[in-house]
Amino acid sequence: MREKDPAPDQAPLYECLDCGERVEDPDGRLCTCGGYLQNISVPRPQ
Ligand SMILES: [Zn+2]
Repeated sequence: MREKDPAPDQAPLYECLDCGERVEDPDGRLCTCGGYLQNISVPRPQ
């Protein structure tokens, strides 16, 4: 049986610190609401 593995080469994922919306590979560092987008695609140590 296979489980879904996250693609190792996926697009960077950002989350808005203001409204919490998640954006893949945004043009800039700001959300459409004007909030700052934080990169949450970095792997976390186990
Ligand atoms: Zn936002």
